[in-house]
Amino acid sequence: MLAMKTQFDIIVVGGGGSGLAAAVSAAEHGADVLLLEKQPALGGTTGIAVGSFTASGTRLQTQSGIQDSAQAHHQDAGLFSAPDIEARNNDPLRRYFLSHAADTLHWLMDMGLSFHGPSPEPPNRVPRMHNVVPGARAYVATLHARLIKLGGTVRVNSPVLRLVQADDGAVTGVAVKGDKKAVADGRNEVEFHAIRGVVLAAGDYANCPETIARFKGERYASIEGINPNSDGDGHRLAEAAGAKLLNMDVTYGPELRFVPPPGRTFQEFLPTSGLAARLLGTLLPCVPGFLMNAMIRRLLVTWQHPENSLFDDGAILINRAGQRFCDETLWPEREIAVAAQPGKECFILLDQSLAERYSRWPNFISTAPKIAYAYVADYLRLRPDIAIQSADIESLAQARSIPTESLRRTLKETNEERLAVGRARLDGRWTLLGPARACFTTTEGGAAINTQFQTLDENGTPIKGLYAVGQTGLGGQILWGHGLHIAWAMTSGRLAGKQLAGASFTEADDSL
Ligand SMILES: Cc1cc2nc3c(=O)[nH]c(=O)nc-3n(C[C@H](O)[C@H](O)[C@H](O)COP(=O)(O)OP(=O)(O)OC[C@H]3O[C@@H](n4cnc5c(N)ncnc54)[C@H](O)[C@@H]3O)c2cc1C
Repeated sequence: MLAMKTQFDIIVVGGGGSGLAAAVSAAEHGADVLLLEKQPALGGTTGIAVGSFTASGTRLQTQSGIQDSAQAHHQDAGLFSAPDIEARNNDPLRRYFLSHAADTLHWLMDMGLSFHGPSPEPPNRVPRMHNVVPGARAYVATLHARLIKLGGTVRVNSPVLRLVQADDGAVTGVAVKGDKKAVADGRNEVEFHAIRGVVLAAGDYANCPETIARFKGERYASIEGINPNSDGDGHRLAEAAGAKLLNMDVTYGPELRFVPPPGRTFQEFLPTSGLAARLLGTLLPCVPGFLMNAMIRRLLVTWQHPENSLFDDGAILINRAGQRFCDETLWPEREIAVAAQPGKECFILLDQSLAERYSRWPNFISTAPKIAYAYVADYLRLRPDIAIQSADIESLAQARSIPTESLRRTLKETNEERLAVGRARLDGRWTLLGPARACFTTTEGGAAINTQFQTLDENGTPIKGLYAVGQTGLGGQILWGHGLHIAWAMTSGRLAGKQLAGASFTEADDSL
């Protein structure tokens, strides 16, 4: 029997978007690559994302008559977050990233991926958001197929437990949890060695209570990540090797999210790679606007968060016991309180006038800004598992296993409070949305890196042999707005793979 190969040019830790991009790009430039994935399947957060990729100076923009530049994009990218968050951005790195994002999009298109758009997202001055068709799983399927074709090695169910370091601290490999066979042979760990380097591409720590508590505060620790597997291994591995971590308290969210629908979503039935996917992409420009809109609205009711304005306008939050538990208008106290409720769940209750108000522009339950809007009727039609309407509160309570008496009492008390401050009673036909949970979408902290994607220690000195990409290697960038996280995952992966494989690097390396 052949012995297992344990030495490669490059080892990539994590098989989400950035890891796959790094592995494919390195293999394209002749490197012998091993990609290690902790879970039974590739994908990570990338695999459950919507799939938007925001970039400037793209072919699709040109086809739509849009003139754009990375410089203009860089200016606009700074307008998305609050000034105190933006002040912490790594400006040179984000400028460098944005100047390479369009080439990454073209690289993916040349691999066979199709994109819808570009779509507007103010304050971007022009449309820059490109949405992969049919959804983000297409990135994973296409890059995986390409990696296999290029001769890369992929091992799933292979969590990296620690980095292997030489006496001088240089990272020379990884130790992976032994599989059944290795354990039977008395080896709990198996080491793999990298000639050129190890790339950390292990995603974020949105579902790691210890890391969230350490950097953001204990009170946030019970809020979970949308991706239950975002456990921050990459950040721990980087820190253990001496890397500096930046902006670890900055998070995307918390925000309320409805629980996902049971079973497979309609998008999951669409082809994500191969001939059928190419055909879907080719037919895309012919799809009438109303159909495209219907497709996007389905995505909205599956993934987008309910708008804060709902609570400012009087919607109330109740728990499974039928009780109110917080001031619904206060963020993030509202989300912290939701995470402390039984089952970490809540429901949003709207009375008749509120439901009517949220049935037409400009009041919507959720949105992909300037692209599509979902109203009460969309939730009732497309998400009957989380949206229900009735004239009597009892049947709503029964349908969601909420104690009727308790809910009745809550409404009585709420109406007394409202009347005391001169607000109208909640009344009429009721709409109940939920369950919803409080979640971090992703986290914005990452290892310090330079533009060669080398991780840096506290003094800014590169740690030999250790690279970081995607959410693990955010390098202090603030990537607010839609579509920059995937663009960064793919761009950092592509460039890191290319550089590590030793390709001469002439691609606008002057852009810093
Ligand atoms: C619901 C949702 C929708 C989103 N939609 C968008 C969008 O449309 N556009 C956008 O730009 N961003 C979006 N984002 C954010 C974006 O998807 C992510 O930030 C990005 O895809 C992260 O890519 P990554 O490669 O860094 O991490 P991931 O895709 O999470 O990949 C990390 C991989 O590393 C593996 N791993 C972890 N630890 C180990 C270990 N010890 N050993 C081996 N493997 C390990 C993980 O299992 C995982 O597969 C969305 C996020 C969510 C939650």
